[in-house]
Amino acid sequence: MIIVPGRSNGDPTSQRGTTFTGTVWADPVVPASDEVVVNTVFFQPGARTFWHQHERGQLLHVLAGGGLICAAGEPPRRIRPGDVVWVPPGEKHWHGASGETFLTHLAVSLGTTMWAEEVAQADYLQSPGD
Ligand code: MN
Repeated sequence: MIIVPGRSNGDPTSQRGTTFTGTVWADPVVPASDEVVVNTVFFQPGARTFWHQHERGQLLHVLAGGGLICAAGEPPRRIRPGDVVWVPPGEKHWHGASGETFLTHLAVSLGTTMWAEEVAQADYLQSPGD
């Protein structure tokens, strides 16, 4: 048996707080810098980010479960394992689990993340446009 090492820096998983709704855990993949933050993020069913923007964009790769992503002014869209999402610089959006499933995604965030208001429950419950 061969185990190819993934993260090896020993940083503990951290539970996210004030800019997330519900229980969210993030695990560093590589040491964070001002330029790029790479995390594996786990959202329990119903959990999601607040509205936010990424200064230089964000790449998401859905690893397991199922979730939603929403750009401001549009209905939420479903994301599934294997999906890759590019969020352009400055686009206001949120992402997280669906109400019925957990979500795990890899998040590569470029530059500063600018946090805004919580996603209203009514907005979260909008029917996904798929
Ligand atoms: Mn984002």
